[in-house]
Amino acid sequence: MNGRYAPSPTGTLHLGNLRTALLAWLFARSAGSRFLMRMEDLDAGRVRPGIAEEQLADLAAVGVDWDGEVSYQSQRLDLFADAIEQLRAAGRVYECFCTRAEIHEAASAAHGPLPEGAYPGTCLRLTEAELASKRASGRPPALRVRAGAERVAFTDRVHGRQEGVVDDFVIRRNDGAPAYNLAVVVDDAAQGVEEVVRGDDLLDSTPRQLFVARLLDLPAPQYAHVPLVLGPDGDRLAKRHGGVTLRDVPAARARAWMAETLGLDLDPETFAPGLLPREPTIWRG
Ligand code: GLU
Repeated sequence: MNGRYAPSPTGTLHLGNLRTALLAWLFARSAGSRFLMRMEDLDAGRVRPGIAEEQLADLAAVGVDWDGEVSYQSQRLDLFADAIEQLRAAGRVYECFCTRAEIHEAASAAHGPLPEGAYPGTCLRLTEAELASKRASGRPPALRVRAGAERVAFTDRVHGRQEGVVDDFVIRRNDGAPAYNLAVVVDDAAQGVEEVVRGDDLLDSTPRQLFVARLLDLPAPQYAHVPLVLGPDGDRLAKRHGGVTLRDVPAARARAWMAETLGLDLDPETFAPGLLPREPTIWRG
C-alpha cells in the first residue's frame, strides 16, 4: 500500500519523528509499495527557511528514501481551493469570526455530544444582521465545514476500532491558508496514498479527515497511528530532553536505537526492508 511521510518544515526532526518516518517507510517498502515525501508548509508563520532541506537530509541519513520529487503543499494551493469550493457549492461551508478566547468560552459553556475543545457552532447560528456586522468589522473569517456532530468510526492498525464525533472544524484559516485537516485529505487522495502511518497524537484528527474525504467523495486511506517516543519524564520527546536530533547523535547510532526500540531485527546499517511483520504488535505500547 502506497505510503508517505509528511513533515511540517517548522523545526529540526527529532529522533521520534525520524522513527515514525522510518516505520512509515518500512510499512510501504516491505509491501513493495511506493513511498512519497510531502512538505506540509502551509503555515507561513511557522515555516522556517532551510528546515525542509535539513529534514530531507536527516531522513536520508537514517535510511528513508522516496519515489519521485518531494512535493510542497504551498505549490498546490489550487487543489485545496478547488476542494473548499466544492464543499461550499454543496452548502457545507460557513464563515467563522470567533477568536480563540471566544471559542474557549463558548465551548466551556456548551453541553452536548461534542468533545472537549470542539467548536460549539457559534457562527452557524448568526442572524443575517449579525453576519453583516461581523463582515463589516474587518476581521477576516475562517471557513468551517458544517459537520453536525456526526460520528465517524474507523479501524486503526495499531489502536483497533476508533470512533469520534466530528465538530465544525476549520478548513481555511482566517489568514487564507488551507487548514491541515483539509489539505492532508486532499493531498493524500491526489497522490494516491493508501496507508497513512503517523504519530498517534493525530489519532483524534482522523474522524475529521475521514469526514471531509467522504464529503469530497475521495477514497479514504488506511491508518496506523504509532506511539510517539517519550522522554525520560514521560512527556513526548522534545528539545529540552537534549541529544534528540541528528545534530547530537550520529546517524548510525540513531538507526541502531530505532531498530532496537521498534524490536525490529533489521540490519542497523541498511535497514533492509522485507522483514517487517504485517501485524504491528511489536511496537504496541
Ligand atoms: N504535517 C503533520 C505534522 O508534521 C503530519 C501530517 C500527517 O502525517 O498526517 O504533524
